[in-house]
Amino acid sequence: MKETREMAQHHSIFIIGSGPAGFTAGIYAARANLSPYMAAGIQPGGQLTTTTDVENFPGFQEGIMGPDLMVNMQGQAERFGLQVEYSMVERVDFSQRPFKIWEDNGVEHSADAVIISTGATAKYLGVPGEEEYLGRGVSACATCDGFFFRDKVVVVVGGGDSAMEEANFLTKFASKVYLIHRRDTLRASKVMQDRALANPKIEFVWSTQVTEVLGDGKAVTGVRVKNLVDGTERELETHGYFSAIGHKPNTDLFKGVLDMDEVGYLQVKSPSTATNVEGVFAAGDVADPTYRQAITAAGMGCAAAIDAERWLEAQEG
Ligand code: NAP
Repeated sequence: MKETREMAQHHSIFIIGSGPAGFTAGIYAARANLSPYMAAGIQPGGQLTTTTDVENFPGFQEGIMGPDLMVNMQGQAERFGLQVEYSMVERVDFSQRPFKIWEDNGVEHSADAVIISTGATAKYLGVPGEEEYLGRGVSACATCDGFFFRDKVVVVVGGGDSAMEEANFLTKFASKVYLIHRRDTLRASKVMQDRALANPKIEFVWSTQVTEVLGDGKAVTGVRVKNLVDGTERELETHGYFSAIGHKPNTDLFKGVLDMDEVGYLQVKSPSTATNVEGVFAAGDVADPTYRQAITAAGMGCAAAIDAERWLEAQEG
């Protein structure tokens, strides 16, 4: 077995990452008879596997559970021939074609084209209770989960544009939003600050750090906070806790190889999905600091597969 696993494998299209972007790219590439191969990572399905109900992905009148949506996408892609391996990519060499890719299981691959859909990871504070109640009151996406907090009190952590946007959005549903920020000035743009500061449903809790997310074993019931000026601690009752302290695109593997912005998002030659290396394409949250939605990622995955297919055709011609 070991010898066969260590033999280099060649693919027309190698997809790195398995969220909505990767699987949609897989569906399109497989249907174009390109026999795509995917290294799906250790958490196949990406960020949607840590959410519960997804109600804003078109096509599901009653909504669908995030993990179910990803299982369906994978099954759909595999039905057309996507080969999925539950491995991490350890190293890439895009300096010459065919490109070289090494998986953590020791297998070396070569590929004519590569689609990167490694996603982004929402940052969390790392305090006790956060991980335990993820998807049960803890979230990093108000657009996805805000609807579940109708007439409830929620907390948003952060002082940037995301925090202002999430807090404002949440006031459409929540009875009250505590915006907890570790300093007494905001990083957010003036217009976003003004909107949040003028919103009567938002109460700013300045110079304060969340130290624990509290729950009853089933769901979030509150947060413990510490005032960083006088050191006092107190508890705030809440049903929802939204972390809005930024996202980290999963691009460490491509540092120095692919063009990225200062945060690490891959830069594509919009309106295409082409990166600065010909034959390497990027789709989904890894290349999208703006929208970061499952449906926009899926759309970009489709575009990447079509871009890759056309590029491969042009190489033959
Ligand atoms: P960001 O600008 O980096 O802000 C992160 C916020 O989280 C900061 O206020 C930071 O506090 C706080 N923070 C970070 N680590 C923390 C920790 N460990 N504990 C407590 N607080 C912590 O991130 P973002 O708001 O996600 O925005 C990212 C980029 O997207 C920005 O360029 C933003 O303009 C853009 N964006 C634009 C829009 C829009 O225009 N509609 C919407 C969302 C995002 P400090 O301020 O103290 O550092």
